[in-house]
Amino acid sequence: MHPISKAIRTQVDRTNEMEHSQPLFLTSSFCFDNADDMRAAFADETEDNIYSRFSNPNVQEFVDRMCALEGAEAGFATASGMSAIFASFMTFLKQGDHLLSCRSIFGSTHTVITKYLPKYGISHSYVDAADVSSWEQYITPNTKMIYLETPTNPGLDIIDLKAASALAKKHGLLLNVDNCFATPIAQRPIDFGADLVIHSATKWLDGQGRVLGGIILGKKELIQELYLFCRSTGPSLSPFNAWILSRSLETLEVRMDRHASNALFLAEALEGHARLNWVKYPLLASHPQYAIACEQMTNGGGVVCFELKGGIESGRKFLNALTMLSLTANLGDTRSIASHPASTTHAKLSEAERNAVGISAGLIRISVGLENKKDILADILQALDKC
Ligand SMILES: *Cc1c(COP(=O)(O)O)cnc(C)c1O
Repeated sequence: MHPISKAIRTQVDRTNEMEHSQPLFLTSSFCFDNADDMRAAFADETEDNIYSRFSNPNVQEFVDRMCALEGAEAGFATASGMSAIFASFMTFLKQGDHLLSCRSIFGSTHTVITKYLPKYGISHSYVDAADVSSWEQYITPNTKMIYLETPTNPGLDIIDLKAASALAKKHGLLLNVDNCFATPIAQRPIDFGADLVIHSATKWLDGQGRVLGGIILGKKELIQELYLFCRSTGPSLSPFNAWILSRSLETLEVRMDRHASNALFLAEALEGHARLNWVKYPLLASHPQYAIACEQMTNGGGVVCFELKGGIESGRKFLNALTMLSLTANLGDTRSIASHPASTTHAKLSEAERNAVGISAGLIRISVGLENKKDILADILQALDKC
């Protein structure tokens, strides 16, 4: 079966097959008929559910569907994207280890790597996303993992997954990829050699701004190790959020197709605008890594970035002039969202620090929604006239 069909049709086996949609299993624990069955479950001789911190039918349905979409053997779902990322670090890194990470990564991931991992003796080197050939010089005998996002947030740099995977294999490192921006509809990192794939399900996977969630996917042996860590430390996804996310996945492909076509339309229409220095979108021919994007992505995703000529003040004016787009910290929603990192999420950084992570004063990030593409463009054009 095609991965999309499999993801839509997959449900967890259960005794009562009356419901067409998977019912909710809002229960913290599960009962056993007798002491023998219970002993066998605890001895890992069966796959029976024991306790929802370990497993739950709704959570398993979400995991199975994500495995189908990403071409993964196994997965573990978590309460948020950040808990997935943190669990992957805590499971596979130990005191004395070194992590190689691309410099432009999600803000909270940056905080975990720079502020918290050093507390446990785990060091890191940040490398330039655009140039994988420059990474090898940072690898030490203690390096254990390469961590990356592609496309990066918010710079939309594209990292060559095949090259990163070849480097990881050569040095026996785990390649850990945050695939949040692309979604498995646009890009399947495991096909290019990634060992672990992470998602913030909060973004495009739900796509409707309702729940937080995360997931880590990969080979069975790796996920088993991760599962044992998570089952004892408790970052597990709630059954209700898993139920929501499984329903969301049934429309993921149709939503992403439209998000991406709206985004490409917007990027093409804005390119060359008099008030902008540049427009960036992975599948715009002017993107510096356009060739790599074409090789590893089947669509460019739903995020478009551009730089206002007027800098910080222009950014504020632009946001204030928007009449339809939402101003909110999220992305990956049916409704289009505009954000200006320099005056909001990254306002505490100095200009030099912002530039180092690819955030210039005039950078605007648009999470392109499912409204009619002409309405999205019209709102942005009228706001550009006022800044
Ligand atoms: C939002 C986001 C995360 C964190 O996910 P949460 O669900 O908010 O914890 C991680 N990586 C990327 C690329 C994100 O956009």
